[in-house]
Amino acid sequence: MKPEKWLMNTLMNTESVIRRILSVFFPDRCPYCKTIITPPDTECSECRKNLYSYHHSVLLPCGVICTAAFYYDINNSARRALLDMKFRGAKFNARSLGKALANAVSAQFSDVSADVITCTPMSRDRLKARGFNQAELLARELSNELDIPFDNLLGRKNGARIQHDLSYEERLNNKDLRFYIPDQHKVEGKSIILVDDIVTSGMTMSGCCTLLNSAGAESVNCACVLTAGSYNKTIEIKHSE
Ligand SMILES: [Zn+2]
Repeated sequence: MKPEKWLMNTLMNTESVIRRILSVFFPDRCPYCKTIITPPDTECSECRKNLYSYHHSVLLPCGVICTAAFYYDINNSARRALLDMKFRGAKFNARSLGKALANAVSAQFSDVSADVITCTPMSRDRLKARGFNQAELLARELSNELDIPFDNLLGRKNGARIQHDLSYEERLNNKDLRFYIPDQHKVEGKSIILVDDIVTSGMTMSGCCTLLNSAGAESVNCACVLTAGSYNKTIEIKHSE
């Protein structure tokens, strides 16, 4: 076993032991139904059965298909779990949501292969205010599940207006979206999986996808945990095997 792999395994085992001890005093709860669960479980068996049973895909404004684990109107408990993670700091939920994301990506592509997994970026100001980028948490979980390295390939300048404060028309014409690529060499010739937490208008994902392609990526596949695609008339729901 390679030293770095050994170190990673040791750290994960140590984390698992610590989580077991802490769980006596602060038990983990299923992100979806809130029942108490025991490590290393990341959700209860009932929710696991229901939540990993299908995925779907949506068409982004840039013309690329985005794979999604959950749909806003159908998977209400998944929506709550994601919003708890994003706005109430329930980072633990990223584990289960990341697994669902990996399930959706694996079901969409018969042979999942990519050089790198990345995520939609957050500006430094926003990152400072929230403390974490939820898209990165989910992308890192996907990276662990698929054994494909994660890297932050995109940046977002401070001062860009926040997407969910804008109307759909404003989003289409949003001149404040200023994504950039800090190191183009990391993108050139690479097959990339781009991850976001929620895709609504698809403008953020499209902007990042287009930028990666124009910077010389070999391919960009898009994946998100949740879509709220009333804009999207071509939603396709597929039942996983
Ligand atoms: Zn549950």
